Amino acid sequence: MTPDPVELWAECLLSLERQVTPQTFNTWFRPIAALCFDTDHLLLQVPSSYFGDWVQSRYLSLIRDAVTAVTGAAPPIAFTVADQGGAPGPAPPVTPVDLPPPPPRQPAPPPTPQTPFTPLNARYTFSTFVIGESNRFAHAAAQAVAQSPGRTQYNPLVIHGGVGLGKTHLLQAIGHHALASSSGHQVAFVPSERFMSDFIEAIKTQKTAQFRQLYRSPDILLVDDIQFLLRGEQTQNEFFHTFNALHQNGKQIVMTCDSPPGQLQGMEERLISRFQWGLVTSIDPPDLETRIAILQQKAEITGLSLPPEVATFLGTHISSNIRELEGSLVHLMAYCSVNRTELTIEAARQIVHERGPKQPGKLSVDIIQQLVANHFGFTPALLAAPTRRREVVQARQLAMYLTKHFLALPLKTIGLSFGGRDHTTVLHAINAVETRRRDDAEYAQTLSQLCDTVEASRAPA
Ligand code: ADP
Ligand code: MG
Repeated sequence: MTPDPVELWAECLLSLERQVTPQTFNTWFRPIAALCFDTDHLLLQVPSSYFGDWVQSRYLSLIRDAVTAVTGAAPPIAFTVADQGGAPGPAPPVTPVDLPPPPPRQPAPPPTPQTPFTPLNARYTFSTFVIGESNRFAHAAAQAVAQSPGRTQYNPLVIHGGVGLGKTHLLQAIGHHALASSSGHQVAFVPSERFMSDFIEAIKTQKTAQFRQLYRSPDILLVDDIQFLLRGEQTQNEFFHTFNALHQNGKQIVMTCDSPPGQLQGMEERLISRFQWGLVTSIDPPDLETRIAILQQKAEITGLSLPPEVATFLGTHISSNIRELEGSLVHLMAYCSVNRTELTIEAARQIVHERGPKQPGKLSVDIIQQLVANHFGFTPALLAAPTRRREVVQARQLAMYLTKHFLALPLKTIGLSFGGRDHTTVLHAINAVETRRRDDAEYAQTLSQLCDTVEASRAPA
């Protein structure tokens, strides 16, 4: 029986969706259709030749890997441009753009050394990390650790900072460096939620001994977003012992966090003190020069020529996090591709305009207040008002929490945006939300819905 190309491709898309941002996925993968798909041949239909070139130059190896993972084979991949008329009819002429040498019947690639941990994103290396004042020190520390894991003063190394500023990128760069060197170091990258779920699973299946063996074996343990350890006391305890076992054996531990570890209310003191044994350093929002350099580097990697004035324009107008900066570039390219125009300031202006009101950093606190108020059915002004009505207090706390989470603004600034409240009030609000989220499933659900709403509100139109 011949497998259905649509179904096979749908499976590949599922796998691809997990590896790129939703925006990239929607722009560059969703529009692709598979016309023919078997172990000898994969024919993909793209909307335009510009689109095809773009996907080829940037995502071909990602697609190849997904295809191999799904089919166990490595068929040559060809692209064809869809009929401009769009009417369903006979298959349009084929433009073979990717016909590699004799179809190698390769077996699936061997597991990489870091399994069964979370695989590293191939893009997150030191070579693709742009250094600026905001991240210079964190970068230097990460490099030092990558070069001599367990043998520097930086053990553990804790990198903290707001959303989308490059923490995960740096963390994974350490992993890539170690894997690429001939040291034979075992690397484990794990988001802290994964540590927690693995641990819970181990308890359920009575496999805690295996869990311990697994987590205490790597030479370099990279734990992303340790703030999520706050959700579980037992997990914190287990993490404490994992930490000690590794540290005592001279193994390297690197962690990232969305705020300084000392401010993690609800984190065990003994863990916080362990984190401070080594080096705690921050990544700050990038300045204009760094933002422009990042845009230029992203463009270069994708083989795109980005005029300097356009880079400057985008860098000036999109001043929030780097993920947002990348998003604006992808958005700009999609815009130019669809409208068949050049990458000009005019096009960039259009993108900034489209993303503008939704972009964090500008009207952002207002937007969060608006969204939270909508959710609870009252006016945003109430969030800044002195009222202490219970439902308003609860909404206000959530809005403060979301502001911190999405915009990483200083507590003082947040307090000012909520009717000139004190920073301790904001801190109290954030802690209250964290605690309640842990203890109250329905509340956790509301919070996660609100997070999705805020996230969606800043996605491009
Ligand atoms: P965080 O973990 O802090 O939320 P990420 O590491 O996921 O942020 O970074 C968000 C995006 O920005 C990623 O695509 C990453 O590659 C990119 N990025 C962040 N910092 C830099 C940098 N200094 N140079 C190049 N790209 C960067
Ligand atoms: Mg991250």
